[in-house]
Amino acid sequence: MKNILWYLNPIVHLGDKKYSSLFPFITTIVCTALIECYFNVILKQPESVGLAAIFIYIALIIYFSFREGIRGGIITSIITILYYIYIIHTRHYTGAQFKSGVNTTVILGLLYFLLSVVIGWLKETIDSLIEREANEKKRLHTVIQQLPVGVVITDNTGKVLQANKKIHEIVGLKVPIGFKFGEKKLIDFKAVGKDHVPEIEPINQTLTTGISINGKEYTMKRKDGKIKHLQVNTAIIHNRSGEVIAVAAIINDITQQKEMEERKDDFVNMASHELKTPITSIKLFIDVLQRHLQKVNDAQGTKILENINKQTERLQTLVNDLLDVSRLQTGKLTFTKEIFRIDELIEEIIATIQSTIKKQVLTFAEKHKISVYADRFRIYQVLTNLIDNAAKYSKEGKEIIVRLSKKDTNAIVSVQDFGIGIAQDQQKKIFERLYQVNDIKEKTFPGFGMGLYISKEIINRHNGSIWVDSEKNKGSIFYFTLPSRKI
Ligand code: ADP
Repeated sequence: MKNILWYLNPIVHLGDKKYSSLFPFITTIVCTALIECYFNVILKQPESVGLAAIFIYIALIIYFSFREGIRGGIITSIITILYYIYIIHTRHYTGAQFKSGVNTTVILGLLYFLLSVVIGWLKETIDSLIEREANEKKRLHTVIQQLPVGVVITDNTGKVLQANKKIHEIVGLKVPIGFKFGEKKLIDFKAVGKDHVPEIEPINQTLTTGISINGKEYTMKRKDGKIKHLQVNTAIIHNRSGEVIAVAAIINDITQQKEMEERKDDFVNMASHELKTPITSIKLFIDVLQRHLQKVNDAQGTKILENINKQTERLQTLVNDLLDVSRLQTGKLTFTKEIFRIDELIEEIIATIQSTIKKQVLTFAEKHKISVYADRFRIYQVLTNLIDNAAKYSKEGKEIIVRLSKKDTNAIVSVQDFGIGIAQDQQKKIFERLYQVNDIKEKTFPGFGMGLYISKEIINRHNGSIWVDSEKNKGSIFYFTLPSRKI
């Protein structure tokens, strides 16, 4: 019974574009036979069929055009008109009665056709819209399922509405509809980096803070004990009135990438350690040989050895930089801090570098007695790198000016050159690991893009900051700050 009522309900068939002609045809014929039988045989008043028939047929036409579209309504209307003609004929209407019967049939016929067309058209339009939306949903669902990244869509309480195949693979368990990540402690999320919110998985974090997550890295401990590295993006979906209706999360499994990076860092670390010892030995042998050549007064030999020494020093700097980068990556770079006069350090560095570079003139323009609490060797490294770069990226004869000043509780050191300069869009990127400006118009300068990255990390770990002010073809000023100390 329930099934029959469900089948007869026209609302249930909205969106179903399989229209039947047989169902309205048979049902209208059966209804007509029953009406005729009732008035003719049971009531024995065949002439009083008119008004009842009008209402019954209007109901049938509305029903069938809403259920089976225009065709359903038209079939019912045709049968109805044929029945009206049958009535006029069998009730032997004559004269004015015949005329009024024909007129009523024509007017009602037109009305029935109009009803069928309007309601049927409405029904077919709604069906098309529903079908289009269903197709769109299906397309989107298929695309989401096939994406090579994990996609989860939840409602505004964090309950999963949709999760694709990749998510099941990443999370290591089936994520059914209605699953809530934070609720069951099946997965442990931990954000990597400074601004992490511990123990809160990204979807709940987005819902509670109302802020989308952009490319943040997480480590996730699965139920089976496996650790996964993930990169997560989330987006809040609002409805037209601005209420949060869903959250979409795109989860990228970067475990393999991370493992490869770790292996690469291990290799660089090991290789640079292995290279350090022979380079130190070469430097010692160069020293011994240099003394010997000076003793025997071999000018040509001394010159060649000087070049060998220079190249070995470059190699040593490179290996040291590689070691520093790998120490930074693994968090093993340690600092031995002490209070010292930074102005004295600058003087010392300028004197050392000036003796090696002949092309440019180094000046210490603003001198102030300022003490800082820092790792002397590492600050020496930062300043040397900035001055070396200033020399490397500017032409012969240009000046390089080092300045020292104090602002509030900070010492500010700046290194100014009048060289090639750095374009605005590159000024932040040059502090990234292994980043080098690649301008084809300029000749390529030797280097590996490690110096500024190491400098930035060193300064950051001293609670200072480092930045650059530069204009292309005019020059650059690199600044760094360090918290100052009273002596
Ligand atoms: P590199 O070993 O390549 O010099 P750095 O990390 O020290 O590595 O510098 C990164 C990049 O920044 C360089 O490749 C260069 O393009 C740019 N750069 C650094 N210092 C200067 C400067 N003083 N003038 C112009 N460009 C610079």
